[in-house]
Amino acid sequence: MSATTLLAEDFARFWQTFPHRVGKLAAQRAYVKARQHASAAELLDGIARYVQAKPAWAEYCHPATWLNSGRWMDEAPAPTTRIYEPWVCPHEPQCKHRPACDFLSTRRRA
Ligand SMILES: [Zn+2]
Repeated sequence: MSATTLLAEDFARFWQTFPHRVGKLAAQRAYVKARQHASAAELLDGIARYVQAKPAWAEYCHPATWLNSGRWMDEAPAPTTRIYEPWVCPHEPQCKHRPACDFLSTRRRA
């Protein structure tokens, strides 16, 4: 099989995996270019990360845009820091107030 055939097969898989299938010819051109920088697997992994990281309100971009901008190299967002982490007292009996609990925890550790 020629390199072109292999690339066409890879592109077919990419196309099937991409969540927003528009502008196929542009996508194909961009795909060939992107493959100079990344393997087929890297691009597919990139799609998976992209789909996972996309907020619900955002639209999927065009595959050509995605490829041309090198979006497969986008880093997965850091796990959302839980700002409102619920306070759970580890003591027995449980503390009624957080300051008291924190104080007790410091003393126990010392
Ligand atoms: Zn406590």
